[in-house]
Amino acid sequence: MQLYNTLSAKERAALIEEAGKERLTISFYKYARIENPELFRNHLFITWNELDVLGRIYVAKEGINAQLSVPAENFEPFKKHLDSISFLENVRLNIAIEQDNKSFLKLKVKVRKKIVADGLDDNTFDVTKKGIHVDAKKFNELIEDPDTVLVDMRNHYESEIGHFKNAVTPDVDTFRDSLDIIENDLKDHKVDKKLVMYCTGGIRCEKASAYYKHKGFQQVYQLEGGIIEYTRQVQNKNLENKFMGKNFVFDHRRGERITDDIISNCHQCGKPCDTHENCANEACHLLFIQCEECAKEMNNCCSTECKEIHALPFEEQKALRKGKTVSNKIFKKGRSEVLKYKK
Ligand SMILES: [Zn+2]
Ligand SMILES: [Zn+2]
Repeated sequence: MQLYNTLSAKERAALIEEAGKERLTISFYKYARIENPELFRNHLFITWNELDVLGRIYVAKEGINAQLSVPAENFEPFKKHLDSISFLENVRLNIAIEQDNKSFLKLKVKVRKKIVADGLDDNTFDVTKKGIHVDAKKFNELIEDPDTVLVDMRNHYESEIGHFKNAVTPDVDTFRDSLDIIENDLKDHKVDKKLVMYCTGGIRCEKASAYYKHKGFQQVYQLEGGIIEYTRQVQNKNLENKFMGKNFVFDHRRGERITDDIISNCHQCGKPCDTHENCANEACHLLFIQCEECAKEMNNCCSTECKEIHALPFEEQKALRKGKTVSNKIFKKGRSEVLKYKK
């Protein structure tokens, strides 16, 4: 039984191109009790591999978090399979705003301790006591309320390229950090203020809202389905779009444009830009914002040092990397002294 990818990303990209068939980028999550994540993982891999589904999926005892690319022609059988799993029946599927046939090039289903690295000890609070879920219409009303504090639950590099008007955007690298910062900022307003939160697809708010309720916040709301579902509803129901810029996403696309506003700058020259790139030096791979001119000038690298290393023959680069642990820049996404214009 094949439980792993047999094709490289490159081979897969060529196949997708050749087939010329439309694919859908979809994400969904569900907190549910999964007794045997390994078994469930294998079942998903076998079924989805047959349907030519690609993507990154995390399975844990607490549930599933999936980001996928599904051939449009296989969407029906894929949906049918989901509905055959009791806790995934009619699960809300977030369909990407901007489609890209190569959003994912492999099928990776991984068993993890948690479906989001939230850094929380779930035994200390009741994760089922969530905040009130609101749709786009209600959300728009809520965030106009002077008693509302609107909080972006994502990390700095995500909110940097796009966020809701008037949102608090904590300058954090991890979800765990933002929980503490927000609690501290709002400690005197646990009763009188409405705490309204949002994230990419809703998953981070599921835990955050329960956590804040546990911490004594009385009025906790979360945007159902996150920015992705909000955008869909705003378009379908012709509502005012209160988001500005791009929605950062965790696949090959890196971001999907929601409005034409460009709210960030190229980290190298400072001009308006909201295109995320990874430094081309394999040993660096820093995630940062780079305009086309700087990409050309710097050969897709974040610094002159990286540019020099990147220009070396592959074997020499490998020799340089030998013995060194991978730079922590990968974890410190979008932060480096070399980025002059990173705010
Ligand atoms: Zn630039
Ligand atoms: Zn670099």
